[in-house]
Amino acid sequence: MSLYQNDSPFELASKKIDESRQGSAMELGRPLGVQSNGKKYYVESYGCAMNFNDSEIVASILAGKGYDPTLDYNEADIVLINTCSIREKAEQTVRNRLSALQSIKKRNPSALIGILGCMAERLKEQLLEEEKLVDIVAGPDAYRELPHLIEEAEGGQKAVNVLLSREETYADINPVRLVSNGISAFISIMRGCDNMCAFCVVPHTRGRERSREPQSILAEAKDLYAKGYKEVTLLGQNVDSYRWSADESIRGKKLIELKDTDVVVNFAQLLEMVAQVAPDLRVRFSTSHPKDMLDDVLHVMAKYDNICKYVHLPVQSGSSSCLERMNRTYDREWYLDRIAAIKRIIPDAGISTDIIAGFCGETEEEHQETISMMKHVQYDLAYMYMYSERPGTLAAKRYADDVPEEVKKRRLQEIVALHRAQCHESNKRDVGKVFEVLVEGFSKRSDDFLSGRNSQNKVCVFPKENAKAGDYVMVHIHDCTAGTLIGTMEK
Ligand code: SAM
Ligand code: SF4
Repeated sequence: MSLYQNDSPFELASKKIDESRQGSAMELGRPLGVQSNGKKYYVESYGCAMNFNDSEIVASILAGKGYDPTLDYNEADIVLINTCSIREKAEQTVRNRLSALQSIKKRNPSALIGILGCMAERLKEQLLEEEKLVDIVAGPDAYRELPHLIEEAEGGQKAVNVLLSREETYADINPVRLVSNGISAFISIMRGCDNMCAFCVVPHTRGRERSREPQSILAEAKDLYAKGYKEVTLLGQNVDSYRWSADESIRGKKLIELKDTDVVVNFAQLLEMVAQVAPDLRVRFSTSHPKDMLDDVLHVMAKYDNICKYVHLPVQSGSSSCLERMNRTYDREWYLDRIAAIKRIIPDAGISTDIIAGFCGETEEEHQETISMMKHVQYDLAYMYMYSERPGTLAAKRYADDVPEEVKKRRLQEIVALHRAQCHESNKRDVGKVFEVLVEGFSKRSDDFLSGRNSQNKVCVFPKENAKAGDYVMVHIHDCTAGTLIGTMEK
């Protein structure tokens, strides 16, 4: 039974943040009526879409206290770096950046440097006390405290808050849209993660899973639509386990723990509610977890034209034994069943995935099972990584990181090569088809061409004629590369 029966039942594409946006700075204006306090801040973000969305929340909190933005860290009083810990390389990138930013202090000794997000949570003492690279450390659940932390640091104190919360969802904070082209925006629907995938640092850095109150999600989607946005992407580490109840005592409980009489909003219901905001507001979501993605979500996707026909379903490995060591709690057969369900219920769906090469103990046979999984599913898009051991994770405690570096590299290369070929094949199958495309802006190469995505999340490029960003246009595809569909608008 739904909590919102009268509203009728009630979401992101794997719009991962592309490499070119890593480290991008963000700017926003103060809300009307808030006086400037004369201080400027600068925010730079790394990592996943949730991190970029968190920077939008941080920007909103600071703007509300009168801080003004700047895109030039040299003129900032406060420089904030929102960080990612997912792989060692991500942390190294941020460390290099923090070292480079120390030059600010030479020019302006009173400037403060703050670190936000997952690295703050993981490396607090080291960065603040041992390496003395930062003045402020704020974990992912401490952003409301930032103005206070800044005051403490200005007074010469160590300003640290890395407490993780079981409740914080920033539900009442309207993020200032920074990563946005004015057409598509992210909406965080939950925070943290309760899965304990053996390789993953997220549960350790972002804390327990909690779902955001659905009416605040709907209000944000309606507000974005009123401002002219045409696409929202619902974000969570595991959107299919979204579960909210007005009754605090059952909030966050697993399905099996709930009684029939308990009233909860689940992800399928939330997705439906957001789809009903407006028929021309596209809805995407990410990330789906294979163990939790059930048919109800797929049926809602099939029912609404404005829910994009695209599922990001990270497989990580095609081998049941490797999945077991990874503690993913599904096996190859279960995953294949979920893929079959997607193809049955939404035959034209785009499917993407995440793959890790060279996890602890991965044998050649297990690697070949990943290759055969890729051949079977024919992913339209994959994000592929070499396993990177993260301190404190189950894998670091239980298993040796024993696949030699050159073997990891070779396996990753094989996966990437197959993926490239499959992308090209997938795009070739679309030549001759006509897609509805939401125009996002000019193509990277030429202002005579526009670029946008179809429902399946594929990038389409076509001559601009008289269309503009924010328009829905029908595009006839007549050519492709491995990464792009090329076409012309239908008259
Ligand atoms: N919650 C999502 C899920 O379950 O798929 C994704 C979370 S994570 C931010 C994104 C991806 O990073 C994962 O799907 C995984 O492929 C990759 N990843 C996570 N930890 C990793 C590690 N230690 N080494 C290599 N890749 C990793
Ligand atoms: Fe990490 Fe697994 Fe949670 Fe995804 S579901 S964030 S991979 S622990």
